[in-house]
Amino acid sequence: MTKKSNEIGCDKCHWTGYVIDDSFTNARAVLCDCIENCEECGGSGNVLSENKNGYSYVAPCKSCGVIRRNVKLYNISGVPAKYAHVLQVDAGLDPKRMNTALQKALKYAKQEFVKKYPTKNGFLLMGPSGLGKTHLAVGTISELTLKHGVKCMFKDFFYLLSELKQAYSQGTPENDVILPLVEADVLVIDELGKGRSNEWELNILDQLISKRYNASKKTLITTNYVTYDIAKEIGDKHEILDVRIGDRIASRLYEMCEFLYLEGRDFRKEQKKTQKSQ
Ligand SMILES: [Zn+2]
Ligand SMILES: [Zn+2]
Repeated sequence: MTKKSNEIGCDKCHWTGYVIDDSFTNARAVLCDCIENCEECGGSGNVLSENKNGYSYVAPCKSCGVIRRNVKLYNISGVPAKYAHVLQVDAGLDPKRMNTALQKALKYAKQEFVKKYPTKNGFLLMGPSGLGKTHLAVGTISELTLKHGVKCMFKDFFYLLSELKQAYSQGTPENDVILPLVEADVLVIDELGKGRSNEWELNILDQLISKRYNASKKTLITTNYVTYDIAKEIGDKHEILDVRIGDRIASRLYEMCEFLYLEGRDFRKEQKKTQKSQ
């Protein structure tokens, strides 16, 4: 492969400028040597520029500045290492092998949300585990950070609550606890409703969701619980999301998110089958 004039990267990083390291708890993007040794800026990431009055100022390198910023954003987003390979919404997904529900969710995430970001609502994916909910949510924030420079954050619901509890018990000021979660332009809350939440926890969650709503921030949610409508439709005994998280939070989420129900065969098992047959 030869380098096109406007392209960054090299063969080693497949022309992305980074390689992904999955050996820690969270996935990490590591700048490739071709960026570390950028010819434009000598690897500092900055260049001296001059404005029209003749004053010089430090500006991000035109060649590698964007990729440096996006890699930093990816590394603070907290994507779990087991999703290190999911760098875009449709990573590893073949629409021909997917059921209609998953196709619809993929289309919303890719064509509506990422492509039209930030105009579209976030999304809430519900359904049993193993259908690709977290995969889609992680793919969305990975693509938004690495390709579009959007500040995103991934939080497992259960850990989120214990983190908040710990911070409060240590007397951390409320703003220091909630603000980073409100500031993320896109926040993923994985497995919403998991475990038994007490009133205090639901109250904090309510505050977080309300603040994000007021700041017009996008929230992506995965949950194993379903809405009343879906429970009625599938005629199955399902636990109801509104009951798990309370009507107040649920009704806020109805306004902030497109609700999508995933059903059907176990996505992970299908993936393994596909890998084996390849
Ligand atoms: Zn490279
Ligand atoms: Zn550079």
